[in-house]
Amino acid sequence: MSNQDYRVRQLIEMEACTNCQICAEICPAASASRQGNLSAVYRMKGLKQILRSRTGLLRRFFGKKKPGDDELNAFGNTVFRCTLCGHCQEICPVGIRLKELWFAIRQDLVHSDLYPKKIDMIRENLQESHNVFAEDNQERAEWVEDMRKVPDHGYLKDRAEVVYFTGCVAAYFPLAQKIPIALAEILDLSGVNFTLLGAEEWCCGFPLLGAGLMDMFQEIMAHNIEVVRKKGARKVIFACPSCYQMWREHYPREFEIAHASQFLMGLMKSNRIPLQELPMTVTYHDPCDLGRGSRIFDAPRQAIQSIPGIKLVELARNRENSQCCGGGGNLEMIDAKLSAEIAKQKIEEVMRTGAEAVVTSCQQCVRTMITYVKRNRISLEILDITQLIHRALKKED
Ligand code: SF4
Ligand code: SF4
Repeated sequence: MSNQDYRVRQLIEMEACTNCQICAEICPAASASRQGNLSAVYRMKGLKQILRSRTGLLRRFFGKKKPGDDELNAFGNTVFRCTLCGHCQEICPVGIRLKELWFAIRQDLVHSDLYPKKIDMIRENLQESHNVFAEDNQERAEWVEDMRKVPDHGYLKDRAEVVYFTGCVAAYFPLAQKIPIALAEILDLSGVNFTLLGAEEWCCGFPLLGAGLMDMFQEIMAHNIEVVRKKGARKVIFACPSCYQMWREHYPREFEIAHASQFLMGLMKSNRIPLQELPMTVTYHDPCDLGRGSRIFDAPRQAIQSIPGIKLVELARNRENSQCCGGGGNLEMIDAKLSAEIAKQKIEEVMRTGAEAVVTSCQQCVRTMITYVKRNRISLEILDITQLIHRALKKED
């Protein structure tokens, strides 16, 4: 491992930890696995020991032995068993930017060849197929064929005002494909001049962050920027919070960007979406990357409450305190059992509200929660916000 993957600020911040252990109490990975060593406080202690042991001066000062490969591998395994939900960072009373630290450790482990080898799949898939599932990228917009009415342009226009950046999960995962279908139909009905990028869209690069592979990111970013530029678009919209967050934090600010919940709320405010009564009681799950990550808490709630007939009941842990669904941080690839255990906790919390459906604003959350309820035959509907709005569209006579 190499200390160069950490900024000086991060090394200083770690020293501020008071060992209060609040981060361990709220960690979904620690509670679902009942393993305290998956929580932030333990991970940081482990990291500090390793960093000190490999720095000559500090080694002499603290008298630490260099850790052996077994010790480093054991540490590496705990690092990747984390959903990167950011709840620990949100709650830390001394303000340690823990999520950034988790990214840095993953990068360090990759540079030191001490990472779970399943991560190589992300590198290979993105290099060879430009999507995270190793699917044919030419088929990125094939879901369009499942729409009720497909215009001649198939939503692949040469130029448009708005680009809808679909993201890998919605493009390829059958259950999640209902989300782009719903969004495209709403946009069409509202008269938005939009296009997809189709085969020209490459993965946004978000999986690289969690995999410690950001060295590959520049090429991906440059490609995606160039294809949006060619469309002459001024705005890029995303139904996926991870794509949105990636563009918000790591792409140059050349275009206006918006998450679908914000964009649709804007259309609703200007009465461009014709809605009818939808009598339902729903609860809302804040996706980690949209809520804590991008601070978008109100737009989805306002959009839900703008649908006539809808009753919104809040989860016990909502907004900044939302509990992760288990789908983040590439955890499903590393430890599918732990990911499902975290989903179980989430679904149990949802069931306690008595709502008939849980609405969220993320295709990965939809995918994780649906997989859990289907496998366990739980009667609960999981909907993305685009699907809920689509369901409330005024039907043509
Ligand atoms: S990011 Fe989430 S899962 Fe990871 S250590 Fe923090 S609270 Fe636990
Ligand atoms: S919440 Fe912050 S200060 Fe408290 S133990 Fe965790 S990292 Fe340390």
